[in-house]
Amino acid sequence: MRRVEEYLKKISSPGFRYKQFKKAFYQEAISGFDEVTPFPLTLREELKKNIDFSSLEEVKRLVSDKGNTIKVLFRVKSLDKNIESVLMRHEDGRNTVCVSCMVGCPVGCTFCATGKLGFKGNLNSEQIVDQVMYFARILKKEKQKITNVVYMGMGEPMLNLSSVEESIKILNDPDGFNLGQRKITVSTSGIIAPLKKFIDKGFRVRLAISLHAPSQELRESIMPIAKANPIKPLFDLLTQYENLTNKRITYEYIMINGVNDGSSHAERLGKLLRGRLAHVNLIPYNPVKGVKYDKSTRENIQNFKAILDKYGVYNTIRVSMGEDVSAACGQLAGEINS
Ligand code: SAH
Ligand code: SF4
Repeated sequence: MRRVEEYLKKISSPGFRYKQFKKAFYQEAISGFDEVTPFPLTLREELKKNIDFSSLEEVKRLVSDKGNTIKVLFRVKSLDKNIESVLMRHEDGRNTVCVSCMVGCPVGCTFCATGKLGFKGNLNSEQIVDQVMYFARILKKEKQKITNVVYMGMGEPMLNLSSVEESIKILNDPDGFNLGQRKITVSTSGIIAPLKKFIDKGFRVRLAISLHAPSQELRESIMPIAKANPIKPLFDLLTQYENLTNKRITYEYIMINGVNDGSSHAERLGKLLRGRLAHVNLIPYNPVKGVKYDKSTRENIQNFKAILDKYGVYNTIRVSMGEDVSAACGQLAGEINS
């Protein structure tokens, strides 16, 4: 936490103090300055008096029927605006936090609840990491840990790049949260220039590209950002990334009834991705208030999948979690709705 680091510097604490703090804060997931046990009592009291322990305040917590998804609405204190974060507890033991990097989003994809809000503000790295720490503290009570972090909540990571990069460094820091880059996924609508910078700087997290359409024309019609970021140069960059890292890229594809889910779309997607290190995540469209799209039928999804299989393109149908608490992909709107 930068505020603690700066404070310790200001009062001329020895260098090892911040390392001790990082271990307690990120690795032991403490709940307050009282618990920084290596610190003298007076220092703990001083920190308590001068520094706010979290940049976020819980407004509401919703647990899904099956108990495997927890959605939390936070107030971002410095912005006085709300964001949402989700913890997904998978059956295979993974505990994944889906973090927001903005309040709202300026990209305006036609199918997305966050996009409907418009842009309301950027989060800083501490506000991103505090979402993870909140859930780490919950899991600590059961002696469990966060195993994965996905940047798939509210906002477009490539348009708040410095905060996203800084937050990844904190999560990845062996003296900090100590989560491997392979355990972190950044999802982007495919904004080429910042994505190139991100790759060039050496970040090697898992990439998820929100593709949603196999052709430029269709993609532009559902994702306005695609106009300035065409599929062709985007894929040139992704080829470079594949060659550089030998890593499989995830392509997210929302299945919207009658819009992008026909056999011809699947054929075209198969041709676009065959031979690549690709994994297609077929995501049945989740309903969003005020949006006129419907979810694809089961038959259409199965047919689409079979065509991708025919092209040898690795794919899975995403099992939606948390729809009953409006925590599923694209449903995050920072609202109190129950
Ligand atoms: N801005 C980034 C990350 C946040 S969106 C991005 O667009 O990739 C996370 C994922 O949810 C994206 O793949 C997005 O396209 C998807 N999504 C958005 N609205 C959705 C909806 N209504 N149903 C299902 N998935 C949706
Ligand atoms: Fe923004 Fe992603 Fe939603 Fe598009 S899908 S509006 S990029 S959050």
